[in-house]
Amino acid sequence: MATRPVADSHSNRAAVQATNDDASASKLSCVKKGYMKDDYIHLFARRPVRRSPIINRGYFARWAALRKLLFQFLDCESNIDGKCDTKKQILSFGAGFDTMYFQLQDEGKAPFLYVELDFKEVTSKKAAIIETSSQLREKLGATASISPEKGEVLSDHYKLLSVDLREMQKLDDIIALAGMNPSLPTFIIAECVLIYLDPESTRGIVGWASKTFSTAAFFLYEQIHPDDAFGQQMIRNLESRGCALLGIYDTPTLLAKEKLFLDQGWQVSESCCLGHAESLY
Ligand code: SAH
Repeated sequence: MATRPVADSHSNRAAVQATNDDASASKLSCVKKGYMKDDYIHLFARRPVRRSPIINRGYFARWAALRKLLFQFLDCESNIDGKCDTKKQILSFGAGFDTMYFQLQDEGKAPFLYVELDFKEVTSKKAAIIETSSQLREKLGATASISPEKGEVLSDHYKLLSVDLREMQKLDDIIALAGMNPSLPTFIIAECVLIYLDPESTRGIVGWASKTFSTAAFFLYEQIHPDDAFGQQMIRNLESRGCALLGIYDTPTLLAKEKLFLDQGWQVSESCCLGHAESLY
């Protein structure tokens, strides 16, 4: 049975937000080495770093797996005009500086609505970067309103809003503000986010999503196996930065993650391991 170290009793908000800077730097490292294409991440990563091959490969696997599932969701039968009529939406929890929306636009695959949520400290910085980059701004259309002060971007097809995900009672209002329609097909992304929350909040969010959206898929990507040698080192590394993986003892295995979803009202839950690459930095 897994025991919970005392240091896990709280996770530092700033340290958790800093994991977003690590993710951006790692993505830029991958792009520079040719593992993946992302024409925007350099706008968000402060300085280029070179990650080790194991980290580059891990990020590639994460990016490729998400895109494969996203494309399955986004691809649809076209009508006689060659157009796809089904409106679809994507909701990204703890999106950080992710650039997927901008990549999808370039690929002609952007959904009707793409909504990103994160702490205000992060959405403010993201909004400021979007505001100062004509390359990003032009993807949002002329009517976009961008407010670094509020940590908000509101455009026709892309919304960036701030919320602390642990304040679950706010989620209904947030998605209403974002213009989401709970009855449209919805793809939810939580990449290395829920693992930082207390298990009760994670259960609440997973349950809220299953109750709220009538047709939805939930992509969860996060750490497992706290008790093997790799996991112990990963936890030590993150804790030394004040960043506890509060959820890892509650769902330490793939089976436990699957059960989390089934217990919270999802009909099907499947998982796979993409290898050891997280949090080695
Ligand atoms: N999903 C992105 C970023 C991962 S870093 C990617 O894969 O690249 C984790 C992100 O989750 C950070 O941006 C952090 O600010 C956000 N986050 C963690 N806890 C949160 C909370 N309680 N509310 C809102 N955002 C949170």
